[in-house]
Amino acid sequence: MESERSFSARTKEEMCRRMPQRNCCAAAELYGELLFANTFSPQEIKIVTELEKFAARLASLVFRVTGVDAKYASFGSAGKFAVTICGDEAGRVYSFFGHEEGRAPAIHLNNAIVEEEHCREAFMRGMFLSSGSVSSPEKNYHLELVTRHFNLSREVVALLLDMELQPKTTVRRSNYVIYFKDSAAIEDFLTRAGAPAAALRVMETKIEKDVRNQANRKVNCDSANILKTVDAAQRQLAAIRVLESRGALDMLSEPLRRAAQLRKENPDATLAELAEIAGASRSGFNHRLARIVALAEGGSNE
Ligand SMILES: [Zn+2]
Repeated sequence: MESERSFSARTKEEMCRRMPQRNCCAAAELYGELLFANTFSPQEIKIVTELEKFAARLASLVFRVTGVDAKYASFGSAGKFAVTICGDEAGRVYSFFGHEEGRAPAIHLNNAIVEEEHCREAFMRGMFLSSGSVSSPEKNYHLELVTRHFNLSREVVALLLDMELQPKTTVRRSNYVIYFKDSAAIEDFLTRAGAPAAALRVMETKIEKDVRNQANRKVNCDSANILKTVDAAQRQLAAIRVLESRGALDMLSEPLRRAAQLRKENPDATLAELAEIAGASRSGFNHRLARIVALAEGGSNE
C-alpha cells in the first residue's frame, strides 16, 4: 500500500506533466497557486513545496504570465523548495490579477480570471498544487484544499458549486479546509484538474473494494446459512438418538417416524431437500423435525 503523501505527490507530478496551452489557462492556474500560496501580498509572494517539479513550473508560469523573472531555490534542510518574489516585483504580480497594490486587503477571488470552463479547471489545478492533498484511495476518500483566508474559502466553494462539485468545509487550526469525501467527486475533481490517471486509480480502487466487500458479505452469509443448517441437523440427529435410546422412536406417529428416518439417512441434507424426498411441504416437514426435537428435549413419549 502506498503512503498518503506519495499518492498526493504522484497526483501533483501528473498535473505538472504538461504546461497549459492557452495563455488564459496559464494565468488561471498561476492565480490558483498564488491565492493559495503561503504568502500572497503586494510586498512578498512565497510558495514552499516539497515537489521540485512544481517549484520549477510555478517559476516558469510567473515569468510567462507576468514577465517577472522568478526563480526557485531549495528551502530549509528538509528537501523543500521555495519560489519567493519580493518588493516591486511582488507588487507587479499582485496587481496583475486585479488586486489593488499598496494596501494588503482581505484576499478575494477575482472572478474575471475564472470565467471560462478551461480556465476554471486550470485554476483548480493551481489551488491543488499549492495547498491541496489527496489520500491514497486504499486508505480513504479524501481530497482537500487549505487556506487561511475565510473570504477566499467561501468564494472558492461558490465557484466549485457552480462547477457542480459539492465541497464540504471545516475549520482546522484556524485554517479553512475545503474538502471532498465522495469518491465520485474526487474522481471528477482530479480529472478536471488535469490528473486523469490519479482519478482512474481512485475509480479502480473503489471497484476493487466494492467487489471485495460483496465477496466477503456473500461468504459470511453462506457460512451463516451452512452453520444454521448444520446446527439444526445436529440437534435433530441428537434428538433422534435420544428417542432411539429410550425405545421411543417406534412409538412415534408414522409421519414423525418417517421424518426421523429420512434425517438419519441424510444427515447433511437441507430442510428443503428432505421435504422434497418426503413429498411434504417445507414448513410441514420442519414442523415434524421440530416436534421430534421437542419430544427428545421434553423427555415425554408420544
Ligand atoms: Zn483558459
